[in-house]
Amino acid sequence: MSTRAADLITLGLRIRHFRAERGFTLDQLGERVGMAGSQLSLIENGRRSPKLSTLQDIATAVDVELTDLLKNEAPNTRAALEIELERAQRNPLYGALGLPRVKMTKGMPMAALESLLGLHRELARRASEAIATPEEARRANTELRERMREQDNFMPDIEQLAEDRVRASGHVSGALTHREVSVMAEQLGFNLIYVNDLPGSTRSVTDLVNHRIYLPPASIPGGHGLRSMALQAMGHRLLGHERPSSYAEFLWQRLQINYFAAACLMPQAASVAFLAQAKRERELSVEDFRDAFGVTHEAAALRLTNLATSHLDMPLHFLRVTGDGALQKGYENDDLPLPADVTGSIEGQFVCKQWSARSAFTHTNRTTEFYQYTDTPAGTFWCATQTGATDAGEFSISVGVPFVQAKWFRGRETTQRAVSRCPDESCCRRPASEVSSRWAGRAWPSARLHAHVLSPLPSGTFPGVDDTEVYEFLEAHAAE
Ligand SMILES: [Zn+2]
Repeated sequence: MSTRAADLITLGLRIRHFRAERGFTLDQLGERVGMAGSQLSLIENGRRSPKLSTLQDIATAVDVELTDLLKNEAPNTRAALEIELERAQRNPLYGALGLPRVKMTKGMPMAALESLLGLHRELARRASEAIATPEEARRANTELRERMREQDNFMPDIEQLAEDRVRASGHVSGALTHREVSVMAEQLGFNLIYVNDLPGSTRSVTDLVNHRIYLPPASIPGGHGLRSMALQAMGHRLLGHERPSSYAEFLWQRLQINYFAAACLMPQAASVAFLAQAKRERELSVEDFRDAFGVTHEAAALRLTNLATSHLDMPLHFLRVTGDGALQKGYENDDLPLPADVTGSIEGQFVCKQWSARSAFTHTNRTTEFYQYTDTPAGTFWCATQTGATDAGEFSISVGVPFVQAKWFRGRETTQRAVSRCPDESCCRRPASEVSSRWAGRAWPSARLHAHVLSPLPSGTFPGVDDTEVYEFLEAHAAE
C-alpha cells in the first residue's frame, strides 16, 4: 500500500483523536468546518483526502496547530495498533486470503485488536521466511563469499572487539580457558548455563530478560566446542544483532559471530606472532596452530584464512570436502579454480578427483596431514589435507597456497604430485569413451540424495549420480 494511503489513515486517526478530546460529535465538528458529518467520517477513516483549507479549519476548530494535525505518528497506543492493523488489512498478502476486513470501532476490545494484529504479524513473518528458497539461499551464500574474498576474509573491527574482550577477561596467552569464557560472559552481564533440554534446532538460547545463555552440556568433559558456542552467543549481543529480516542477513550475522568466536579463541596478536615465527622457521602448519590454541583442525584452518593474507602476505585457499568429493565449504583468494554452478555457487559441487582434498582419502592414515602439489590450469598449488570422520561420514580439511608460497610450510618437500585439468570434463568427470560405450543405456543407478540443504544436484545422466563412478563400479564387478 502507498505511503500516501498510510499517511491518510494516520491523519484520520489524529483528527478523530483531537475531536474526541474536545468532546465533539462528527456532526458538531462538521458544522464548525462547513462539512457534513458523513464526509468528515470518510476523512477520519482515511478514505478521503481532505483539502488543505479544510485541514486548516479542522485544526482551528479543535484548537491545535496544523502541524500537530499533520504529524506522522499515532496519537496514542491504541491508535498505533489501529493504524498497523488497518495497514495489514490493506496489504495484498491479506487480500489474497479473500477474508473480510474488520472495521475498527471504539468499542472493539484491546485484546481483539492485539490478537488480530498478532496474527497479521505472524502471517507477514511466515511469508518472508518462505522467500528463502534454496535458490535464494545459494545466491546469498555466494554473495557473502565474494564479499569476504574482496576483504581477504579479514574483519579488523571484529578482531579488535575480540582482542579487547579477551584481554578484559584476564587472558594472557595460550588457549582461552572455559573459565575465561565464563568471565567474559559475566562481564557482559550474562551467566552461562548448561542444560540437557535445549531445543533440537538451536545451538544456544539467550534469555535477554534474565541474562542467561543456555548451552548444551559438554559431551566430552572440557570439550572445546562449548567455548565456541558460548562466544558465538555473546557475539550476537556484542555486535548488536537484531532479528534478521532476510536470509542474507541471517547468514551475515552467523558469519560475524563465527568470526568473533574464532578471533577470541585465536586472538589476532598472539596468532600472528605464532604464525609469523613459524613462517620464519619455514615450519608453518595448521596442525601446530591448532594445537597451540586448543581448537579443531577446521577452526585453525579457517582462522588461517583470516590472517594469512592480511598479516603474512599470502593468498591461500580452504576446502571442506565430504567423503564423496562434494564441497561443503570453500574459500580462495589464490585463484584456485573452485567448481561452481551457473549461479557461481560452490556448495555441493564435486571437486576434482586429482585434488589433495580427495586423494587424501585414499592415501593417508589421519594421524598426519597429507601433502600434495597439484598442477591446474591456474598454476601449481601445494596443499595440506587432514581427513576425519563424523557420524555423517568422512570429510577432509585442506589448506593450500600457490607454488611460490609452499616454501614456508612443513610438508613442502613432498614428492606427491598430481595433474588436474578440471573444469575440462575429460579430466575426471567424463567416463573413458570405451567404458562409456560399453555401459551407456545399460546401467540404472539409484541416487543417494545429499542431506545438505544447499546442495544442488550435480548434472549427470541421472541427477545426483556420478556416472564415472557408477561405470567404474560396474566395470570392476562385471569382471568378477
Ligand atoms: Zn578433475
